[in-house]
Amino acid sequence: MQPVLTLNGICKSYGKIQALKNVAFEVPEGSVFGILGPNGSGKTTMLSIILDILKADAGSFAWFGQPGSPETRKQIGSLLETPNFYHYLSAVDNLNITHAISGRGSAADIDHVLEIVKLSERKRSRFSAYSLGMKQRLAIAAALLGDPQVLVFDEPTNGLDPVGIAEIRELIKELARRGKTIIMASHLLDEVEKVCTHVAILKKGTLLTAGPVDEVLTNEDIVELSCSNPIHLHDLLIGFPGHTHIKLEGNKVQLFFPIGTAPMEDINRYCFEKGITLNLLFAKKKSLETKFFELTND
Ligand code: ADP
Ligand code: MG
Repeated sequence: MQPVLTLNGICKSYGKIQALKNVAFEVPEGSVFGILGPNGSGKTTMLSIILDILKADAGSFAWFGQPGSPETRKQIGSLLETPNFYHYLSAVDNLNITHAISGRGSAADIDHVLEIVKLSERKRSRFSAYSLGMKQRLAIAAALLGDPQVLVFDEPTNGLDPVGIAEIRELIKELARRGKTIIMASHLLDEVEKVCTHVAILKKGTLLTAGPVDEVLTNEDIVELSCSNPIHLHDLLIGFPGHTHIKLEGNKVQLFFPIGTAPMEDINRYCFEKGITLNLLFAKKKSLETKFFELTND
């Protein structure tokens, strides 16, 4: 399937500060894709580049396989900073203004997007009377105008209380269930684990790793194997002792073990004795703690 977004070798500096160094990854359709990294790691810079707010110094990106154009741009709703809503106006009046200025959606969409973010009952209240969480949900409603396929959110739960955080996370999952692809920056490992299906981890502008959350943020050893007949290899390895589960991913078999227990030599011998010559045998040791350590230390 065509990725929703592809980044190739993106570089960006602010004077001497290299904010992004040769970043490349793909966002699959229908994913909730987390950009995870501590403050200053380059998340906002990256989102600004893919939204055409900033220009990369080098590299390229493509939405739906196409270079950015006003047409593709219409398929992307975004929330980078809290938008400037009018404090004395209601949600409906504010969204009418957003719609009029941006040209996104129609006046008829407004009730619908307010319903999705669960603000229908308070849609006539003044913005100034809203809680922070409601304000953020209104901002998400604004991003939903025009029913874009892709949503880009920068730290959508920042500054909210626990109830507000839970509401936004639930809303993001609901949007994913409705088939949206969501790209969201977060500095919270826990949030990415709870909400995202995929993650790219950034540290000081460098991409450490990217992939499905269950592979990247796992507490297990993942052994990747391949041979000329991966289906046969998969069926054979079901009988290999000690693994917790097994997956066939394309032409690779992935065998999962509790952290620190993958017996590489035994696996190699087991396959060989069953008449299989491996052309790939590779262990990915990835624990949550290790990832966190990599993220927060120099
Ligand atoms: P994050 O969103 O992950 O916190 P940013 O993309 O905001 O990271 O910042 C990445 C790096 O670039 C940081 O070192 C930050 O200080 C720097 N930076 C960001 N914006 C600017 C700017 N406008 N001018 C100079 N440096 C900037
Ligand atoms: Mg940021």
